[in-house]
Order: sequence, then C-alpha cells, then structure tokens
Amino acid sequence: MSQTSDEGLLLALLNTTPTVEGVRVDRLADPEDARAWVREHTGGDIQEDVALLRATRDTLKALVDGEAEATALAPALDGVSYRAAIGDTGIDWELAAPAEHALAARAAVAWDALRHSAPGRVRRCGNTEECSLFLIDHSKSNSARWCSMAGCGNRMKARRHYERRKRTRSEP
Ligand SMILES: [Zn+2]
Repeated sequence: MSQTSDEGLLLALLNTTPTVEGVRVDRLADPEDARAWVREHTGGDIQEDVALLRATRDTLKALVDGEAEATALAPALDGVSYRAAIGDTGIDWELAAPAEHALAARAAVAWDALRHSAPGRVRRCGNTEECSLFLIDHSKSNSARWCSMAGCGNRMKARRHYERRKRTRSEP
C-alpha cells in the first residue's frame, strides 16, 4: 500500500462524510472503519488518534466554509516541525509529526499550502442538495463545480436538461 499525497489526503479527509442514498454517513465514526481508513492512507500506520482526526476534519470543513479561524487547527499541529534531510542533491524538508496525529498534521499543512498556492480552490461540490463532498479545483479557469464529472456533473447536467424541456413544454 502506498502513501497518499498530502493534498490527496486532505481531500480524502474532507470527503469522509459522503451522502449515500440521501443519508450522510461518517466513515470515521466507527473505530473499525476509521482504522481501515487510516490504514488505507498511511500504508499501515494505525497509531493515529481518530478523535483528533475527526475534530481536525470538522475544523477543515468549517475553514472551507469560512466559519472557523486557522488557529482552530492548533491541536493537529502540536509538536509538528520540519526536519532537514541532507542528501547527494541537497536538502529535503520533511514534515515531522507525532505518530498520534501524523495524518491530521499533514491534512492541516496541505490546507494551508493550498490557501497560499491556490486560494479558494478547495470547495464544496455544487450539487449541495444531494452531495456533501468537496473538491480541489485544478482547472485553469477555476470553474470546476462538481466532486466528479461522472457523478454529480452528469446528474446536474441531466437535471438542467430536464428542467429546460419542462419549461419549454409549459410555455404557451
Ligand atoms: Zn458531488
């Protein structure tokens, strides 16, 4: 199993509360599910404090919604630093975080990096009625609206088409 990139991890964490058949589920609520999720994203490390990970996720969601201050991420960053590793080609900086909140720290740092490099690009899927997922917009035009084109993108396109036809038919 491989490690997820920090940005991929941030998105995966934000998306641990999907809406499945109209019901919001929390993939981190059950300890077994949470451990499986952590395992999937660390390649085996299961020392993560799941309660802190969930709290960090909720803070990150609130930050995306503009309903929290960055200081609320402090618990995830406790004891976190960058460590210099010198190699043949120069210095590499790697995030050093306590094992109990390594994932929470990486997600928080990834959110902050995006805040600088791509402000406003982490957002909720435009299909707010049925979907509770987030997306990170990497498009040039900054116009991505759906968590996935195959899922919500097509669904919303079909709905707009249907509504347009309905309107056209009901016109006198
Ligand atoms: Zn969606």
